[in-house]
Amino acid sequence: MRTAICPGSFDPITLGHLNIIERAAQIFDRVVVCVAANTAKTAPMFTVEEKVEMVRRVIAPYPNVTVEVNSGLLAEFARRYEGSVLIKGLRAASDFDYEFQMDLINKRINPELETMFLTADQRYTFLSSSIVREMAHYGGELSGLVPEEIVAFIEEKAKTRRG
Ligand code: ADP
Repeated sequence: MRTAICPGSFDPITLGHLNIIERAAQIFDRVVVCVAANTAKTAPMFTVEEKVEMVRRVIAPYPNVTVEVNSGLLAEFARRYEGSVLIKGLRAASDFDYEFQMDLINKRINPELETMFLTADQRYTFLSSSIVREMAHYGGELSGLVPEEIVAFIEEKAKTRRG
């Protein structure tokens, strides 16, 4: 069984992430969405539990997609799934530079681990979790940026944070 691991901080999951997950789910037998618990990114908007809950709602229609949390090194996490590959979305050249570096580091830890790249759908090349957080903070329209199932949840959280 071939497993794709789609890693990220998912703070929150966006339609861009979901597009990559859906496409991976058509190519691989199984997809594991891997939510990073400890990232160097400071001040996340959502707790890990909230991120996982949003991912869970969004992937519910896909029978071969599951979600897990990883609090260690991704290259070690991947060992749990024999022969698994990492799937990353590429939006721009800047994504590539970073991902190339990550792949080299991952291979030092786990030389068997391959990373495969899917180019971002043109509808979502501009989209990132940070844009969604910014929009949510200012009460902007979130439809078309994140899956409908989580729009209200994000709006609610943004409202609470604004106080
Ligand atoms: P972000 O870069 O939005 O903060 P993550 O750290 O959660 O998101 O990214 C996880 C993975 O998802 C990375 O491989 C990233 O390139 C990919 N990704 C993020 N946004 C998009 C998008 N709009 N289209 C395609 N891939 C994306």
